Order: sequence, then structure tokens, then C-alpha cells
Amino acid sequence: MDPRASVVDTSVYVHFPWCARKCPYCDFATRRVEVIPHRAYADAVLRELAERRHVLEGRRLFSIFLGGGTPSLWDPAEVARVLDGIREAFPASVDEVEITAEANPNSLSTAQLRGFREAGVNRLSVGVQSLHDAQLRFLGRLHDRTQALDALEGAVATFGRVSADLMFGLPGQQAEAWSQDVSELLSAGVEHVSAYALTIEPGTQFGALHRLGKLRVATEEDYAAMFERTRDVMEGHGLEHYEVSNYARPGARARHNEHYWRGGDYLGLGAAAVGCLSEGSGRAFRYKNEVRDERYLAAGGESERETLGPDEILREGLMLGLRTGDGVDVEALSARAGQDWRRGREKAVDARLTRGDLVLDGSRLRVPPERWLWLDGIVADLF
Ligand code: SF4
Repeated sequence: MDPRASVVDTSVYVHFPWCARKCPYCDFATRRVEVIPHRAYADAVLRELAERRHVLEGRRLFSIFLGGGTPSLWDPAEVARVLDGIREAFPASVDEVEITAEANPNSLSTAQLRGFREAGVNRLSVGVQSLHDAQLRFLGRLHDRTQALDALEGAVATFGRVSADLMFGLPGQQAEAWSQDVSELLSAGVEHVSAYALTIEPGTQFGALHRLGKLRVATEEDYAAMFERTRDVMEGHGLEHYEVSNYARPGARARHNEHYWRGGDYLGLGAAAVGCLSEGSGRAFRYKNEVRDERYLAAGGESERETLGPDEILREGLMLGLRTGDGVDVEALSARAGQDWRRGREKAVDARLTRGDLVLDGSRLRVPPERWLWLDGIVADLF
């Protein structure tokens, strides 16, 4: 099947490359600046959109995600211009386009919330990370527990659809305190939680401290215990564990993320943004934009571009899809890749199926959630 023969649902990711302060654990393409060039950045994103307009033919807008960085620092009037531009650039849209913005509690005034809502944002993803002040200080966050809860209250009242990011595996973090955070988030009306382990990335402040032996991190056993505990607490509150790091109330899954995990096409806009677009069966291209914000503002442009063939499409489709509870539709994936998904990995697949690490149900290939702690090894075995 040629995916271009019919309308291709396409998501849009817009990267906002600035934050009020750089967190010591973060290796995202973001930095602190004294003055944010609100209008100039919106102009640059719209210029890039105009340059990419030719690839949008035959595509239908599926979702938009404003990520970063801290897009909640962006002037809502400029956000509105960008969102209007994106909607106009696509020949068609799905009925309800999910438009999510990432936000930090310290940049969520009532005016900002209202401005984002009026701009068209209909879902907010708030970087809470913890509801314990000592942990928030350790993480170098600019908000405290009270600000986080106030921000969530405002976000839920304004948007209804609110997700919160939480972090586990922090030094000294007790399982009890973690469970309490989860319960409080859910009581605040949050419908979706992304729970990530603290990881130490080279090139960050935490990376340097860790190298010097000055930062202790959770052991693998701690991580496993917190992972299991998280699932128990979330499921106890009626949330579905639908992706390794993501939990949702019924009907509240992140549509944008699901599209990505299904291997859907996405257009990336903004400094350091990544996009991946199919060009017919068995062929796609992926690009990464200029990472340096000043250069992107001045001239835009890409820093990397690669063509994906059947092998890469299969590999990515399996890697992303097997992270989800729904798993991968392997027939659809084979059609997209122009090659049978089993080819070259028959032995590994059969062995994992026999051991119960993989389950094939009709055309759905899944890793059962109780084996997700070993997911990386299971997936690595397929390549
Ligand atoms: S606010 Fe988020 S994107 Fe910005 S530095 Fe902190 S973790 Fe990174």
C-alpha cells in the first residue's frame, strides 16, 4: 500500500528553545536567555513553515505539540500566529486537532493560561517533577510545591485536559513520598501523567557531579521498585499504563504521542526540531533543524537529513510501538516499510514468543506490561 495514495495524517512539533533557567539534569536543546525574541521567533517558524509547505500536499493535520524548552514563556499572541499559520498550511485537518503546550509552573499566570487557550491550545503538559520542596530544589526547579499545585488548579480550570510530568529515582526519594505525589496530582484533576526516571546525561551539571562521585543515583533495584510501585499507584487510581512512561485516565491518552509511537509522520518546526515524513512505501526522510537559536532565527536551515529505507522504518516502528500497551500493528508496519517485518529476525522473534516476552495477537505484536522492565533487551534482540 502506498501511504501517499490516501490522505496522510501528520502531526506538527514546534520546538521553543529557551527556558527561564537551565535545569542541572537537562540535556535538551534549550538555554537561558535574558530577552526572548517572541515575535522574531514566531516569524522564523512561520518562514520555515512556508518553505516546507510543498511537502504538506495530501496531508491532514492530526495534532500539534509545542515543546521545548519552556513554550509557556512564549507570548500567547505569537503562539496564536504560529498555530493559525499551521492550520492554514494544511489542506485538511482531523475533526479535533489536539494542541498541547508544555508549561512550567513558574510561567503559568492566569493571563498566560487564558492567552494560550484563546490561541487554540487545548491541552497542557505541566513540568511538575515533584511535589516535595527539597526535591524541587535538588532538581534546580524554579517552582515550589505550592506554585505547582496552584498552576495545576489554574490549568485544569482553563483546559480540562492536563498532563503532569513527574520524576522518580531521585536520591533519597522514598516510595511513600512518591506515591503521595501521584495521589495529589490526580486529586488536582490531572488526567495524564508522564513518569520518568532521573537519568544522568553527560554534558549536564549532574553529569559533571556524577563523574566526580558527588552525585548518587538510584540503583537498578531502586529503579525497578519505583517503576512497579508507580504502576500500582496509577492503576489503583484508575489510570491505564499505556506506554512505558505514560499513564492516562480512560479516553485521556496523548493523541500526539500515540501518533508518534505508531510511526506516524510528523513535521518539525523551530530550532533543533526533528521531523520525519514518509515518501511512499519503504521510504521516508528525517531531518533535524539548525540547533543554534541565533542561527535558526537568522537563516533557519537543517543540520542533518537522512533517508530511511525499509530496514530503518521497520526498526523504528518496532522500537517505538513495542513501548506501548497496544503494541505494533505488524501488517500495517510491513506495508509502510514495503518489507515483511519478520524477515531476518525469525529466530529471535520465535524465541521471544516462546518465552512470553512477545505476544502476537492477530496482527498486533506486544511486549506484555509485566515484562516492560526488560523491554530494552527484548527489543535489542530483534536487531
Ligand atoms: S525547564 Fe525543562 S527544558 Fe528547560 S532546562 Fe529545565 S528540564 Fe530542560
